[in-house]
Amino acid sequence: MYAFSYERPSSLADAARLTAGGAKPLAGGQTLLASMKLRLTQPERIADLGGVKELSAIRKEGANLVIGAMTRHADVGSNAEVKSTFPALAYLASHIGDRQVRALGTIGGSVANNDPAACYPSALLACGATVVTNQREIGVDNFFKGLFETALQDGELIIAVRFPVPTRAAYEKLRQKASNFPLIGVFVAQLSGGPVRVAVTGGGNGVFRHNGLEDALTRSFTPAAAQAVRIDSTGLSSDLHATAEYRANLISVMAQRAVAKALA
Ligand SMILES: Cc1cc2nc3c(=O)[nH]c(=O)nc-3n(C[C@H](O)[C@H](O)[C@H](O)COP(=O)(O)OP(=O)(O)OC[C@H]3O[C@@H](n4cnc5c(N)ncnc54)[C@H](O)[C@@H]3O)c2cc1C
Repeated sequence: MYAFSYERPSSLADAARLTAGGAKPLAGGQTLLASMKLRLTQPERIADLGGVKELSAIRKEGANLVIGAMTRHADVGSNAEVKSTFPALAYLASHIGDRQVRALGTIGGSVANNDPAACYPSALLACGATVVTNQREIGVDNFFKGLFETALQDGELIIAVRFPVPTRAAYEKLRQKASNFPLIGVFVAQLSGGPVRVAVTGGGNGVFRHNGLEDALTRSFTPAAAQAVRIDSTGLSSDLHATAEYRANLISVMAQRAVAKALA
């Protein structure tokens, strides 16, 4: 480590003032602290959001579920409201990383970080969620910009994520055994009988929608309809964990499993 100043604001106004002045927000530190130890990032000032109580609420707002940025994965996974109104999200959160990661990692940190294999971005994209910041509201279709990039401006703080609650939805991933990050994760969602949206994570430089699966599943919401869609491996990642062709096959298999689960 190296020298940096640490502040722990207790109100959103103070946190926003600090980050506007150049302090780096610290959520659970699950990515940020490791990045600092590796010197991938060297912030001079840290603003720990852990003391800002209003960032940790989960609440139902009409047809939406609003989850505060500092809500830990373990709390989303075990929350009674989330489990009853949006079980697919509770399942996703309770299968992130391991127990330690879920105890500290947050939805805001995950979304701001936009790791190309993170689970939450697929839920946001499939549901058409909105990222609420201290400056504006950003529709998810304009939020994720590619590898570890988002539409957030310097100093802008995520306050919450607002999910329209889908009528049916499910998430399935094949996890890397060492980390539990998905090799491929697929989130399938349908809102009020409207078109089906399918978001894929772990496949490339960031989360993306799969138009072929969306069209097929909007016509017929069945595992067979997903199976009939040919998944092109062009552009998918190939690395020591899996080839692009293997990932393409996983997209098909995870989509079929997710649809079967959403129908169960
Ligand atoms: C071993 C391990 C396994 C993991 N497995 C999975 C997995 O299976 N699936 C998965 O999806 N993720 C996984 N993760 C990621 C983890 O769940 C966290 O979501 C992620 O590391 C972000 O951590 P954090 O919330 O503590 O944010 P931090 O590390 O504190 O912050 C991350 C980034 O977000 C910024 N930030 C934080 N909060 C805000 C905010 N409110 N507004 C603006 N910017 C903000 C920070 O400045 C920093 O740049 C894993 C991590 C580890 C270490």
